[in-house]
Amino acid sequence: MARYTGPVCKLCRREAQKLFLKGTKCYTEKCPIERRNYAPGQHGLSQARRRKSSEYAQQLREKQKVKRIYGVSERYFRGLFDRAAKLPGVTGENLLVGLESRLDNVVYRLGFAASRKEARQIVRHRHVEVNGGIVDIPSYPVRPGFEVRIKTASKEMLPVQAALESKTRPTTVRWLALDEGTRAGRMLERPTRADIPLAVQEQLIVELYSK
Ligand code: SF4
Repeated sequence: MARYTGPVCKLCRREAQKLFLKGTKCYTEKCPIERRNYAPGQHGLSQARRRKSSEYAQQLREKQKVKRIYGVSERYFRGLFDRAAKLPGVTGENLLVGLESRLDNVVYRLGFAASRKEARQIVRHRHVEVNGGIVDIPSYPVRPGFEVRIKTASKEMLPVQAALESKTRPTTVRWLALDEGTRAGRMLERPTRADIPLAVQEQLIVELYSK
């Protein structure tokens, strides 16, 4: 399926939850979900009033929510899940750790971009180096010890500067070290579930895919 390019606030309304898809801009702009907390479309309001959703619907919504937060396709997500299921440990946690370790997410968490969408664009446009070489693949898996930096010619790029100077920028996470001056960061260790500040029930996704 093609990547969704429509208004992202509709996705939050569909999940009836703030997904912060505009990143730091969500703190400064008016959030539509505060006024209309029901799914978009003609039947959104009536659906919201209906009885409790089924178990399957809850599992499906949880999967859609995580996919939307990270901006990934069903095909990629399913592949990542299959790989996560083969790793030791809890599958749901492995899945989230895999998503957190993506290069676009690391660029976002380091504060070089205002949102994951912007981070993806910065990576795609070849502004990011990993261990000294340009990497333009947003899904590239970053591993402990890897250095992620904005390439020298792009250091003063406006979106990067604006994101770093944003007052609503989230603090850098424990598993990443940032040197703002050189626009460089390093993954210190793999994140754990406790390090991932997402209000999602990943177990529901495991149940959905295990049917
Ligand atoms: Fe979601 Fe942000 Fe839009 Fe609010 S402003 S609906 S949190 S993307």
